[in-house]
Amino acid sequence: MTETIAFIGLGNMGGGMAANLARNGFTVRAFDLSDDALAKAEAAGAIRTGSAAEAVTGADAVVTMLPAGKHVEAVYTGEVFGAAKPGALFLDCSTIDVATARRVIAAAKAKGFQMADAPVSGGIAAASAGSLTFMVGGDDDTFAKAKPILSAMGKAVIHAGSDGNGQAAKICNNMLLGATMVATCEAFAMAEKIGLDAQTFYDISSVSSGQSWSMTSYCPVPGVGPQSPADNGYSGGFAVALMLKDLKLALEAAASVNASVPMGAQAESLYQLLANKGEAGQDFSSIIKLLS
Ligand code: NAD
Repeated sequence: MTETIAFIGLGNMGGGMAANLARNGFTVRAFDLSDDALAKAEAAGAIRTGSAAEAVTGADAVVTMLPAGKHVEAVYTGEVFGAAKPGALFLDCSTIDVATARRVIAAAKAKGFQMADAPVSGGIAAASAGSLTFMVGGDDDTFAKAKPILSAMGKAVIHAGSDGNGQAAKICNNMLLGATMVATCEAFAMAEKIGLDAQTFYDISSVSSGQSWSMTSYCPVPGVGPQSPADNGYSGGFAVALMLKDLKLALEAAASVNASVPMGAQAESLYQLLANKGEAGQDFSSIIKLLS
C-alpha cells in the first residue's frame, strides 16, 4: 500500500485534502510557496518541507492541487520528475486544460512514472469534509493505485477514461453548470417581472421539466429552496472567478476539437461581464443580479 504522499499546493482546496490524507493514516510531506499554508498543513498533521523536490523525495505518491496548467507543468518538469522515486504515482487534482494535462502525463510516463489527472467536483467545504468527487483520467492500473488515495479525500472516485479525460469531464460538467445557472437565473428574474412569485415558480418548476441542480440544490434566489450561498449574500460557495476559469478552459478545449458550444460561450461572456463589475469573489449564483 502507498503510505507516504507528497502534497504540493495547500491552498483553499489542498489544505483540507492534505489534512484528510493525514487523518486517514498516510504520512504527508507538504510543500507550498505560502508559509501560512504550510503552517496550517503542519498543524493538520503533515510534515513541512522546504521545496517540491524535497517533498517528493522518498514519497510513494505525489498529489498536486495548484492554480493552473502552467504551475502544474513547472512543478512536475522542474522539480518532481528529477526527485521522485522510480515508479512513483502522480495525481494532479488541479483543474487545468486538457492539452497540458495530457502533455505532463506523457512526459511522466516517458520517465517511467505513473500519472493520472484527477480533478474534483465540490468546493472548499467538501475538500475539508473529505466529500469531493474525483474524475480520473488514466489507464486501469494507474486508476486502481490512485483509488485508495483519492477515496481518503472524497466520497466518489470515478474512472473517466484515458489520460486527460478527468479534465474533459470536469470542464464539460462545469460548462453545463454555468449554462444551467444562467438559464435558471433568467427564468426566476423573468417570472418576477411577469408577477409570478419566486417560491411559487420554484414549487412548480422544481417538479417540472425545467428542474436542474442549479434550481433544486443551489437555488439562486434567497429564501427559496435549500440553504445556498444566495441565503448568505452570495458569499462562500463557488466563486465567479473559478466558474469563469472553467468556462474559459471549456471554450479553449471546444475550439481545439471544433465543437460548437453556443450556450457555454454565452455563459462565459456573462460571467466575464460579472467579473468586470468587481464581483469575481462572489458565488457564481450571483449572476442573477446581472439578469434582474
Ligand atoms: P488556491 O489559490 O487557494 O491554492 C493554490 C495553492 O498553490 C496556493 O496555496 C499557492 O501558494 C500554491 N502554489 C502555487 N504555485 C506553487 C508552486 N509552484 N509550488 C507550490 N505551491 C504553489 O486555489 P484553490 O482554490 O485551492 O484551487 C486549487 C485548484 O483546485 C485550482 O486548479 C482550482 O481551479 C481547483 N478547484 C477549486 C475549487 C474551489 O472551490 N476553490 C473547486 C474545484 C476545483
